[in-house]
Amino acid sequence: MSKTANPKNDLQVVEGDAPDKPSREEAEAAVRTLIQWAGDDPAREGLLDTPARVVRSYEEFFNGYEACPNTILERTFEETDGYDEIVLLRGIRFESHCEHHMAPIIGRAHVAYLPRRRVVGISKLARLVEIFAKRLQIQEKMTAQIANTIEDVLEPRGVAVVIEAAHHCMTTRGIHKPGAVMTTSRMLGAFRNDASTRREFLAMVGSPASDGTVFG
Ligand SMILES: [Zn+2]
Repeated sequence: MSKTANPKNDLQVVEGDAPDKPSREEAEAAVRTLIQWAGDDPAREGLLDTPARVVRSYEEFFNGYEACPNTILERTFEETDGYDEIVLLRGIRFESHCEHHMAPIIGRAHVAYLPRRRVVGISKLARLVEIFAKRLQIQEKMTAQIANTIEDVLEPRGVAVVIEAAHHCMTTRGIHKPGAVMTTSRMLGAFRNDASTRREFLAMVGSPASDGTVFG
């Protein structure tokens, strides 16, 4: 999509990549509606720039829709001197939003795989978590998406993903249970079929939230 296709209005062209995507002005108007719904006056001084700020925040919260998760893992390294043990990136902090309330999900992901000949740059695992986190999510789906992408692209001997997270839709509203941490996991290949591999992974990860982390 060319940015010069409509020189009169660059903004709309840049945002026109998704055909159904509303304009920035429409998104800001929606925020003004929500401010009114909350009972305040979007025209008062303190709230004048709020719709623009919220829309910019959304660009950050949800920038995972624009990235391709498979591409992230495509560059691999085969010079591993035969390394074929577990590769684990532990404690990847993420911020997501639940698709039911659009409330924050704050947590950590532990991502492991058993390489088959090739490995991926370790930061790519964190980037993969980030891409799926920056979308509207449920934790179960996000856990599966991370594991399935690694399985599909790297074709390793096994994949294990554990996610621990606090859901603000249940800590700050609804049932109000701060401190409750939800744990989900997806085990594929050797992590699913071989009890000793799974045990080794779980020992490396440690017991959930055992380090006293308070999820924000
Ligand atoms: Zn929710």
